[in-house]
Amino acid sequence: MTALGTVFLQTKDFIYAAYIVAFALLIYGMTGLTGPKTAVRGNKIAAVGMAIAVVATLLREHEFSGSGTVWLILLGVVIGTAVGVPAALKVRMTAMPQMVALFNGVGGGAVALIAWIEFRHHFGGGYPLRVEIFELFGAIVGSISFWGSNIAFGKLQEILPSRPIKLPGRAQTVVNVGLFLVAVASAIVLSSGTHSQALFILGILVVSAILGNLVVLPIGGADMPVVISLLNAFTGLSAAATGVGLDNPVMIVAGMIVGASGTILTNLMAKAMNRSVPAIVAGGFGGEVSAPVSASSDGRSYRSTSAQDVAIQLAYARQVVVAPGYGMAVAQAQHAVRALEKALEAKGVIVKYAIHPVAGRMPGHMNVLLAEADVPYDLLREMDDINPEFPRTDVTLVIGANDVTNPAAESDPGSPIYGMPSLEVDRSAAVVVLKRSMASGFAGIDNPLFYDPKTSMLFGDAKASVTELTAEVQAL
Ligand code: NDP
Repeated sequence: MTALGTVFLQTKDFIYAAYIVAFALLIYGMTGLTGPKTAVRGNKIAAVGMAIAVVATLLREHEFSGSGTVWLILLGVVIGTAVGVPAALKVRMTAMPQMVALFNGVGGGAVALIAWIEFRHHFGGGYPLRVEIFELFGAIVGSISFWGSNIAFGKLQEILPSRPIKLPGRAQTVVNVGLFLVAVASAIVLSSGTHSQALFILGILVVSAILGNLVVLPIGGADMPVVISLLNAFTGLSAAATGVGLDNPVMIVAGMIVGASGTILTNLMAKAMNRSVPAIVAGGFGGEVSAPVSASSDGRSYRSTSAQDVAIQLAYARQVVVAPGYGMAVAQAQHAVRALEKALEAKGVIVKYAIHPVAGRMPGHMNVLLAEADVPYDLLREMDDINPEFPRTDVTLVIGANDVTNPAAESDPGSPIYGMPSLEVDRSAAVVVLKRSMASGFAGIDNPLFYDPKTSMLFGDAKASVTELTAEVQAL
């Protein structure tokens, strides 16, 4: 390329034009994520936008202050690609939340490190306050997000106990609020031009790191989805703030999109689980893990059934509701479930699906799986729409779901998930639960539904059981 060409590519106008193209593609790509059919294409378009943004940033002349910078950046790109691509290709659908937590943490950590490096460049003055404020915001929130996401990863991956780990009484809230105030006070002192800037910025990062750990450790069981989406919002907002500091419009736009959508999702999830976000952040709460209760341990009994008996119940029903959960994802039973739905429809049975907002291990988990199996979208009913239908339902098939069907969430004030709206499957005439054992679900708590006289348990892997059911229905 000629010297003139290189100079043109490095002009501010060209770079800003490239940034505009980049975030236009990013926004356009994201509109594709609203439906499973357009999501893959949307993701690719957004990735092209991000690639353009990276190249435009590398072209910025002033980024190359040292001769080693380009190689360092390229080395980072190579390492990131070598780790990220195989991990994304290999990840199992059921491990997706851990992966989201980990990748989200990396974003927050990058923002915190950028803030640290920017301050190192400006020690001794020359950093305008309006930029400094954004960088400090990025340092605090990015560090919280990095450490908090790592804890969330550890809990979801079961490297750490998923039960709440917290200080007694109100001590947790006092410590969390105290640490937050220390971080903010240090930021104010630092921006007022102290002589120990190196110490203060490191102190801010360390205090925020401790805070990130302490905010997520006390959160257990069923509240994890809210926290993951909250940390996602944190990373987005910290990236946007750093974008202001670095004068990088793509970081601002992308960060604000992530921040805004993460905040909306957090509120929706918290509402769906009847939780308050400030209460989760201040002290954490969630399921105390109790040992799975078996029928023999407290004398209650449950009824075990066979595929043959269930097939008869289903084939003579007027309406059947399928309530899927995490176990359907583990068993990869979605195609088998679709085949059963078709077999029942062929016999004149009305089949609908009950979708709980936090069923599975990520928002929209059930929708994605069922869409993959070509289940028509109009058969999927959100919790508020399907709950009034249960009294008119002859049989509800609970396929690998547990916590989201737990009646204790509404009836037992002592239950750790009390207040979380659940699928009211126990209001249908009969319930059949497909799972492998009497073990508890993610929240680690007992489910009285299994001992309800109108519930029967069909034990086995969900895919094998559903396939057997379909064969039995077809044979009738
Ligand atoms: P749960 O985790 O409550 O229960 C899943 C059930 O599936 C288990 O009890 C298990 O029982 C059964 N199961 C596992 N593998 C199989 C298999 N191969 N075949 C048949 N059954 C199987 O799932 P839910 O969907 O009901 O609830 C989701 C939970 O996850 C909630 O507590 C939610 O808060 C939490 N969560 C949700 C996230 C989200 O964004 N959606 C993110 C993180 C957590 P058994 O072992 O006996 O087979």
